[in-house]
Amino acid sequence: MQAVVFEAPGKINIKDIPEPQAGKEDILVKVKAAGLCGTDLHVYKGDFIASYPIVPGHEFSGEIISAGADVEGFKPGDRVCVDPCVYCGKCDFCKSDRENFCRDFRAYGLHFNGGFEELVSVSYRNAYQIGSLSFEEGAMIEPLSCAIHGIKRIGLRAGDEVLIFGCGPIGLMLMQVCKKSGASRVIMADVSRKKLETAERLGAGAALLNNGGFEAGLKKLFPFGADVVIDATGIPQVVQNMSAHVKDAGKLLFFGVCPPDSRISINPYEVYKRELTIYGTFSLLHDFPSAIKLLQSGSIDVRSLASHQFSLSEFMQGFNLMLEHGDFLKILIKP
Ligand SMILES: [Zn+2]
Ligand SMILES: [Zn+2]
Repeated sequence: MQAVVFEAPGKINIKDIPEPQAGKEDILVKVKAAGLCGTDLHVYKGDFIASYPIVPGHEFSGEIISAGADVEGFKPGDRVCVDPCVYCGKCDFCKSDRENFCRDFRAYGLHFNGGFEELVSVSYRNAYQIGSLSFEEGAMIEPLSCAIHGIKRIGLRAGDEVLIFGCGPIGLMLMQVCKKSGASRVIMADVSRKKLETAERLGAGAALLNNGGFEAGLKKLFPFGADVVIDATGIPQVVQNMSAHVKDAGKLLFFGVCPPDSRISINPYEVYKRELTIYGTFSLLHDFPSAIKLLQSGSIDVRSLASHQFSLSEFMQGFNLMLEHGDFLKILIKP
């Protein structure tokens, strides 16, 4: 069967590999849609936890082809998405409800073969029924779960005003989750007019072009700053400037993945005097059921976020779009 293989950092092959063997607790899934994500870029560059060679792709959905003898609750023909995170269940973090810091944290697409292949074998414990959701929506449940985890982290309060930098798929998911969690207004900022249009269509309170007149425009909307400022760009300079736009006693959420060796400067006196709180957010934590319910109820639109689709053999076209920072939202691979 055909698969995308990251042989080692910097080395990609699209080739035939043997079909995976499924164990007693595994289901064999015919992958129907798999999302490309910034994390795949980090795995390609070798600056993220992963083992090689690996079939990447940790955001995927598909149809069950076969189920092992000990699988419960799933059968061939079921439409599923997969939580890629594999926890040991034994360590101190697993036993204190913080599995995303499991001391033996592993994931499909990082340590076990992921979604950029025709057939993938996963434990049934990681699978979720998607019912009538499309496979494209199914592939976006993982990133939506990460967005939900981030918003849970900050404890958003009803009425909060939010400013989000970055209108990529994650920024647009965060915006919708904020609105569903009670934000009174979510203002979006980006350098792409096209992405800002999508933000407005999906319900942004305002969409601001992050260029010359940006600061003045923002001051008009938030004379005293926003209650919550979120970075969904992963650009260190943007992160450094977040505190200029947050209210006293406000919250900053660092969601975007900055380069591992980047540095920003923060004024500790300002954090003290203004009682600012800075939150990090890593991966997800039991958020798949919430994400699925939000999609099934039609509360959140991820369909508008799928901008490109490629087959496995066209994988490099999609990957190059990401490498070159082209104008795209979610790129889906359809094996
Ligand atoms: Zn991802
Ligand atoms: Zn653990």
